[in-house]
Amino acid sequence: MRHYPSAVLSAGLFTAAMLFSVAATAADKPVTREEIALGQKQYGPNQQQQGGQYNLDPALTAYVQRVGMKLAKTSDAPDLPYEFVIINSSDLNAWALPGGKIAINRGLLAALDSEAQLAAVLAHEIAHVTKRHSARMQKKAESASMLGALIGLGIGMKAPEYRDLAMQGASTLAYGAQANYSRDHELQADKAGMKTMSRAGYDPQAAVALQEIFLRESQGRKSDVISGFFASHPPSQERITENKTTAKSLPAGGALNDAEYRKAIAQLNKDKPAYQYLKEASTAYTGKNYAQAIALSDKAIALQPKQGLFWEMKGQSLAKQNRGKEAVAAFDRAAAAAPGFFRPLLLRGMTQNTLGQYGPAESSILAAQKLLPTQIGTYTLGELSERRGDRNAAAGYYQQAAKGGGEIGKAAQERLRSL
Ligand SMILES: [Zn+2]
Repeated sequence: MRHYPSAVLSAGLFTAAMLFSVAATAADKPVTREEIALGQKQYGPNQQQQGGQYNLDPALTAYVQRVGMKLAKTSDAPDLPYEFVIINSSDLNAWALPGGKIAINRGLLAALDSEAQLAAVLAHEIAHVTKRHSARMQKKAESASMLGALIGLGIGMKAPEYRDLAMQGASTLAYGAQANYSRDHELQADKAGMKTMSRAGYDPQAAVALQEIFLRESQGRKSDVISGFFASHPPSQERITENKTTAKSLPAGGALNDAEYRKAIAQLNKDKPAYQYLKEASTAYTGKNYAQAIALSDKAIALQPKQGLFWEMKGQSLAKQNRGKEAVAAFDRAAAAAPGFFRPLLLRGMTQNTLGQYGPAESSILAAQKLLPTQIGTYTLGELSERRGDRNAAAGYYQQAAKGGGEIGKAAQERLRSL
């Protein structure tokens, strides 16, 4: 998604002023009904791909929604059908879809210091919506046929690999979560966002402080591991300088609400050691130290039994040790902790399939597919239908899985031929 700035650079015959006026005219058009529908359609799948909703602390969700709606009402497009959710992911990220569907990760919330900084993040995302940056990006994504396809999630075909499903990061199809906005869009969103947060009563200096934190954070990382928020909203010294100028033009002395914020994220702070155990368990798992991964998952679970990710990690590690029945029990706990999230259901179904529990496997995978259709899920439903003797259903699933391409797609084509 970096071709916007390069297109600007290669358009040598235009003056900068002309380009700016073209961009400004496009941005001033109101959000269309089509864009709203597009964002609505993609919101659920995007949330699924990023980790599902964080539902462990409903009060925190309500708080983020309150702050978000307050900003939305003072934005340039107050009447859009805005929604705000917290994604159950430790990555530093926030994203917006056309029409006002916005998400912020649990990990980013934990890294912020005040309600005003949260407002800076949300107002920036709202500005991408009202300026229709996200809509234009989505159009590009669509023309590149990135949307509407089966989600591959990069899962290997062979039995041992599917279990690494939960280890996969964000899917490449998670449009909006990974879109790289151009430098101009970032500057525009910063400026409009700061005006919005100021009108809502927040100190716009918090946006400057936030950029300084982000720039420090991103510089501490190697370019190849910069992901999430830093890839989609690249921080820069230029943005800090511009934001300082914008802040000077706005009324000083707005609210920071840092005490309120600390209270709102108290649960996240309390659970920090548990997430640290999860991080260590994940490292152990990658290093194939499954016994250690299980021990560390248990430590995390002892601190916070309601976090489904801890149970997923335990279940995957158990599955690696061929302890399928115990793994299924762990995935049951993960599914109960995160209702409406596809991954524990898919992991449970795949494990039940290996255990020869075909009926329960099919139910689990069908439930997962309703939330987020995946290629591996579709392929496995083909196998399960074939096993039941339903060749028509099997052919339908294999045809669908074949469209996704890759290793699973090839395997699906082979199954189709041998039906
Ligand atoms: Zn941005």
